[in-house]
This record gives sequence, C-alpha cells and structure tokens, in this order.
Amino acid sequence: MGQASCAGRCVTATYVFDFSEGNKDQKDLLGGKGANLAEMTRLGLPVPPGFTITTEACRSYMATGTLPAELRVEVTMALRRLEDAVGRNLGDFHEPLLVSVRSGAKFSMPGMMDTILNVGLNDASVQGLAEFSQDARFAWDSYRRLIQMFGKTVLGIDGDVFAHALDTIKSERGATIDTDLSAKDLEELVEQFKVIVRDHSGRDFPQHPREQLDLAIAAIFESWNTDRARLYRRRERISDDLGTAVNVVSMVFGNLGPDSGTGVCFTRDPATGKVGDYGDYLPNAQGEDVVAGIRNTLSLADFEKLDPQSFADLRQAMRRLETHYRDLCDIEFTVERGKLWMLQTRVGKRTANAAFRIATQLVDEHLITMDEALERVTGQQLSNLMFPQFDAGASRTLLAKGMAASPGAAVGQIVFDSKTAQAWAAEGKDVILVRRETNPDDLGGMIAAVGVLTSRGGKTSHAAVVARGMGTTCVVGAEALEVDATAQTVHVGKRVLKQGEVIAIDGSTGEVFLGSVPVVPSPVVQYLEEGLDAALEHTTDEDTIVLVRAVDRILKHADEVRRLDVHANADTAEDAHRARIWGAQGIGLCRTEHMFLGDRRVLIERVVLAREDAERQAALDALLPLQRADFIDILREMDGLPTTIRLIDPPLHEFLPDLTALSVRVALATDRRERGEEKETQEEFDHDVQLLAAVERMHEANPMLGLRGVRLGLVVPGLFALQIRAIAEAHATRLKEGGHPRAEIMVPLAASVMELRLVRDEAEAILAEVAKAEGVELDIAIGAMIELPRAALTAGRMAGEAEFFSFGTNDLTQTTWGFSRDDVESAFFAEYTDLGVIAVSPFETIDRTGVGRLVRLAVEEGRAARPDLTIGVCGEHGGDPESVHFFDEVGLDYVSCSPFRVPIARLEAGRASVAKGGSDTR
Ligand code: PEP
Ligand code: MG
Repeated sequence: MGQASCAGRCVTATYVFDFSEGNKDQKDLLGGKGANLAEMTRLGLPVPPGFTITTEACRSYMATGTLPAELRVEVTMALRRLEDAVGRNLGDFHEPLLVSVRSGAKFSMPGMMDTILNVGLNDASVQGLAEFSQDARFAWDSYRRLIQMFGKTVLGIDGDVFAHALDTIKSERGATIDTDLSAKDLEELVEQFKVIVRDHSGRDFPQHPREQLDLAIAAIFESWNTDRARLYRRRERISDDLGTAVNVVSMVFGNLGPDSGTGVCFTRDPATGKVGDYGDYLPNAQGEDVVAGIRNTLSLADFEKLDPQSFADLRQAMRRLETHYRDLCDIEFTVERGKLWMLQTRVGKRTANAAFRIATQLVDEHLITMDEALERVTGQQLSNLMFPQFDAGASRTLLAKGMAASPGAAVGQIVFDSKTAQAWAAEGKDVILVRRETNPDDLGGMIAAVGVLTSRGGKTSHAAVVARGMGTTCVVGAEALEVDATAQTVHVGKRVLKQGEVIAIDGSTGEVFLGSVPVVPSPVVQYLEEGLDAALEHTTDEDTIVLVRAVDRILKHADEVRRLDVHANADTAEDAHRARIWGAQGIGLCRTEHMFLGDRRVLIERVVLAREDAERQAALDALLPLQRADFIDILREMDGLPTTIRLIDPPLHEFLPDLTALSVRVALATDRRERGEEKETQEEFDHDVQLLAAVERMHEANPMLGLRGVRLGLVVPGLFALQIRAIAEAHATRLKEGGHPRAEIMVPLAASVMELRLVRDEAEAILAEVAKAEGVELDIAIGAMIELPRAALTAGRMAGEAEFFSFGTNDLTQTTWGFSRDDVESAFFAEYTDLGVIAVSPFETIDRTGVGRLVRLAVEEGRAARPDLTIGVCGEHGGDPESVHFFDEVGLDYVSCSPFRVPIARLEAGRASVAKGGSDTR
C-alpha cells in the first residue's frame, strides 16, 4: 500500500490525491492524465478542481473484486474538499456540482477505457442545472447523456438500445441532428432512457449522486479488464498488472452558449515542430464533438477573433506548459462562459520525422541539451525513416489504420489468396495480399506479394512475424476492414473493394490508403550512404533538408557519447563496404559458409566423399586460393578495423544435395539400369551412389544440435586448417601490400574449453608456419563464440583459451529456451503471445531474465579470468534497440548487427550512454 505524505493535511490517505498534491512524475500512481492534471494545478493553470484515485486502488479492486473500504472514506473527504473549493455540492438541487469520472492509466490507451460525464445529475438536480444554466435544453441533454453513458458503461446495457430510442424520437420530431430536439423532447427521452435502464438492468437508474459516483469508479476499474483493453495492452506490451487511475473532475461546460466552447491544441506543429499555435476550436460544444467532426472547427486564429481574452489565456498556458515540459505538449481545453479551463495535457505524440526535427529545434532554442535531444528519439524511429516512403506531398485517401508490423511503403493490387498472389506476381504485377489473418499456407503468397495486410492479429501474429522476417511491408489488425475471401471483397465502412483494385499500405505507420500513392527513396538512407553534403544536394525541399540535418546532428552526437562500438555482420567485401560507409567500426561476424557454395560445392563434396587423405587434401588445396582471395578482399575493405572471421558453422549436409531428391534420383537410375535403359555413365551413377551413402551417413534428426561448428572442424580433418591458412595468408598478403589488416579467428559453437584448445593448437601452428613462410609477423587473435549455455556457464575456463568472446545470441536463445529458431516464431509464437507466455519474441529482443543472465555471468567470469578479454555480441539482438541497452548495461565492448541496422545501433548505443547519466550540457 502506498504512503502519501502529510503535505497540507494529515490523514492516512493512500488511495486518493487532490490535484494539488501530485505531480507529473507520479504516472505510476496517478496515471498519465492524473499526473499531468496535478502538474498543471501546481503550475497555477486553471484546472477544474478534482482528485485522482490511484492505480493502487484499482489493483486492490482487481485483487478483491470490491472497492477498498478506506477508499470510500477517502473519496468522501476528497469530495468535501472539492465541494468546498467549488462552492457547490454534488447533485445539489440548486447549482449542482457535477463531476466527470475519467480513466487514466500510466500509458495512454486511446479509446480503450471508459469515461462518464455529468455524474451528480438526477431528477432533482437536473432542475437545479436548468435554473443555474438558464438553459433547460442543456440540462436535459446533459441528463440523458449521463443515463446513456451510465447505462452502457456501468450497467452493461447495449449502447444501441439508447441510440435507437434517440433515433426514434428524432425521426418522430423530424429532427436531423441532436440539437434539433427541444428541452421537452429531451425530457421525454430521459424518461424513456430510465425505462430502458429498468428493463435491461433490472434496477432503476440510481438517483443518489454518491451511489452514481461509486458505481462509476468501480466501472472504470472494471474497464481496465475488458477484452479490448487486454488485447490492446498485449499488442502494446503494457503490463496487465498496472491498473488504471480514476480522475474525478468538476465538470465545466463548453456547450453553454456562444461564449463557451471546447478545443484541442499543440504547442508546436506535431508534424514539423514549427513553433506556433496549432489547434481547433468549436464554439458551443463538448469535448467529444471536436474529435467526432460533427461540425467544422475554427482555427485558433479564428478563436482569437471570437474570444481574445480566452485565447490570450490559452496562449499563455501553452507557453507555460512548453517551457515547463521542455517539449511539444498537446492540450485539451474548454471555455465556459468566457473562462478558460485546462482539461488535459501531455507530451504530444509525433511522427518519426517530427521527433528528430523537434529535438534539434528545442536544442537550438536552448530548451534542451543535445543529450536530451538524443533521448527524445529512438532507433525504431530512425529505422522508420530508412525505408522508402510515400511522398509526403502527394494526396492520398486514408481507408483504415492498423498496426505497423513491418516497415516500408507498398503499392499493389488487392488479392485475397496465396495462389492468385503467386500467379499475378509471376505476370509481373505488384500485389498486396489481403487476409483476415495469415497462416503457414499463405507463405507462398506472402513471398510473392509486395505487401501484406490483415484485418486481425497483432504485432506477433503470423503475418507480422513472417513479413518482418522477409522484410516485406506489412500492416496487421486493420479492424475497419471486413475481409471476405470467398466473395473476394473487402468492406471498409460503406466502401467495397474488389480483387485487383489498387491500395497502398504504410508499414511504418499502419495506414492503408485507397489507390496508388507515389513512393520516394528515403532521404535518410541517401544521407547515410553519401554523406550530408551529397544528400542535401539531392533536394531543395526545406522539410527534407531540416530532417536530414537533424538526423545528422543527433547521430553524430550519439557517436560522440556512446561507449559501445558498433560492428557489422558482413560476409562479403560488398557488405563490408556498405557497413563501413554506414559507420561500422569493424566486422563482428563474417560467416564463411557462403564461400563453400556455388561452383565450390563440388569441392566440398569431394572433401566429404574422399576415401583417402590425399584425395581430400587435393580438394582442400583447390579451395585454399579461393578462400584466400575472399579474405583478401574483405580485409582490404576493412583495412585498419577488426575483422572477425568465423570458421565454418552449419552442418556439412547443408552443402550436399537433398536426401529425398538424391534417393529418388538413385532409385530411378537403378531401375533404369535394371531395365537396361541407363541414361547416365557408370561413373556418374557410382558418384551418386557414393554421394547418397554419404548424405545418409550424415543425416541428422536435429542438425542444429548435431555435427556443426567446432564439432565439424574437429572431426573432418583439414577443414578448419584450410580456413585458418586462408585467413593467415590473406592477412600476410595485405601486410605485404602495405595494409593494416586486423583479422581475428572465431570458433563457433564451442561448449567445452577442450574444443577451443584443440582448435587453438592447430591454429597457432598454422599461423607460425605461414608467418615464417611469408616473412611477416601475424598478430591474429583467436576467440570463441559463446552461443551454448555450457559455454556461458564455463566462461571462466573458456577465457583461458580465448582472446575474445562474441555472444551468438541466436543460438544461445535457441538452446536456452529449447526453441528451434527456424520453426517456432511462425509456428506458435502468436498463441504464446496471446497466452502471455512471451511479450515479444526472444529472438527479436534479448530475454534479459534467462538468456541475459547467462550473458551477464559469462561477461563477469570471462573478465575475471582474463581482464583484457574483448567481448561483443553478433546475434540478431545486436541491432535491436532494447537489447543494445542491455548489452551496454552488462559492459560489452561492441554490438555487431546487419549493415542496415548499424545506424540504429549507433543511435541506441548513444542513448544507452546518456540514459546512464551523460554529462553533456551543450
Ligand atoms: C548466433 O547464433 O547468434 C550467430 C550469430 O550465429 P548464427 O546465426 O550464424 O548461428
Ligand atoms: Mg550461431
């Protein structure tokens, strides 16, 4: 149970805080809305008095199913203070105080939970309100709204029943809009609503204001656990345990006549960051009306003309808030008979583009430091900016909005099934596969499509996971779409789209557009590839220039402050070249397996099939110059930078033909030979038979846990030796060319220190031999991948034989969880997410608790045994924003990721340093 301080009053209140008691840093306890209302109150801004019931009360309610007894008392006390402050009593017969009861969790969950307005109205106080407002129509309208909202939210009555009654009376009166109904009509409607309440809930609408309030509070707590709220939280990775706060706020009315109104505004343009007044105002209206778009809103400039004093007050409040929060704020306000009231504020949401621009603008205005600017942007935002995008200037028609599942901008014709997707794609058409949800049978269509769109499912649904894995643009969970694959139509509201119609989907925002929208390359990628000056030469568009400059400044600052180095996973000279341009400070993982594919596959077959050492050696000797040439190219690209080359890792059978295909070939050939109809020579046939025997011999039920990595190197003679020699000779060649090669040899999948020692002994002998032969000194470090739990658990011993460690967190996750990395994500992670077993795939973001613990332990024990041990990570997690923070925290020296993610890792590494307490004050 929380402990409130005795500031101002001394009670043992733990569940209720007046607005004057809290502050913006108490979001855990007061929720976002409550904390910011408190902050505005503290700043002296005109906030209608009220109080917040804490998330802790909600948690207690969820645990016990009843409102805590103390809460009742505390609410009474807070209510009395509120009544004293306002000078009116809740539900009084004259001049009644009415309150709104609003949900407000720590994280904003737009539209997911409930709000009840006008609590305190009953058959008597409605008269008082009519008198006080001198507007009977307004009073009865407020009362019918209360019964309607209360009936739906608190008593669980289907909202359509009320809507139907409203529609009926409107048509009876020939009214087209609500405001055409008279006070008398509304009074009659109230009576009908009361009957509805009685008929549908078996009880009368509660007349006692306090009973209304208590029931409303409980209903808001209940709304935390509705299916849609739970689903939303699962998707957004918000914990179910947080609970919501409830804000009880004295009502102010924007619908009391032409000198009243309501509006929303931003302290600066949320799309560009330009300072100014951005917002909408609707005279004689209540909050929801602005968002609902019932009438056309006025600009703030028009508001100024209409009500200069309220506008001046609003402007002052906006400036005050922005100065105080030192960030873009969004605000909801109401004017009640010429008096401004602030109803809500929060640091405003913004696009990725605006995030970078606003951060640097605030630096230039000396409102924040560069460190803070870095904290205000994320790797995810940078990643969004790196995909091709829809042309910002082009017109577009928004159809629906879903979840941004896999970034990119895709335009194509709608298809509803995998077969059509493949057929149309084969004809050269761009298609977007539109499904309710996808399943493994859709894979072919997903590969063929330029984009995937589903109406159901979240960020770890099958569609999302698979599309991300393939790098295909994807939007999921666009619930406004009704997909009918049988009829081959998709309904969006009243619109019906058929197969073949063109749509555009934005995988970075989740937006779905009707028709084609032009796509432009990312100016940020142009900048990363060509540098600032060249990128600026490409454009005269002011917005693009400002964006690119902002990214450049923030990324450079990240480079200055970060402790972690960023390397890239690159297997070819071409990848290495790109990685270097994008800021990689080395290669953390050069996988060598591709060097055994293509034309070279036959040589590997010979290594496997050789019956004698000499035969095997001949094949290995043929591979040597090829491998050496590859390494020379890579070392040339990475001159001066560490280049970690991993010895061959996958099981050998991956380089041999498929068992089933080969068995069939041999069976058919045998059959033909029996019938004397052979097509192939005896030599070819014998080769196939031998090959089949070898493939059968090497076949493994669990190849990922079988003869791969260091195991292969130790049991197939000459294989590692070939690679080590190729690396040593390439290094020597580069030295002789005057270069500064920094090759390192990395041993995969070691579980025992003995494995490392055996490889090291062999490697050292070869390095010495090559050094002597070439007349150079070879300073090539030998290290281990830590990718099996046993390696991590025996890190102290492993460090005795390794000059560096690199965590292979792909395999480490696979083997720690016992999840097959090739299968589980699309097989059952969607279900696992729904069941709450995982919040996010552990292959995407490091599992801190389990896998992370092994990493931490291995770092500690490795460094204890060898203080100068260099440690990095080269699994996919090396480029994942959240994981980068973890690797910084545990003290790794570098992260290594795919070239495309290098800038993201640079940014996040900078953010990690700043989060730990950067010292910069510029
Ligand atoms: C790893 O296991 O994390 C790793 C980088 O190696 P690979 O993905 O090649 O198995
Ligand atoms: Mg691995």
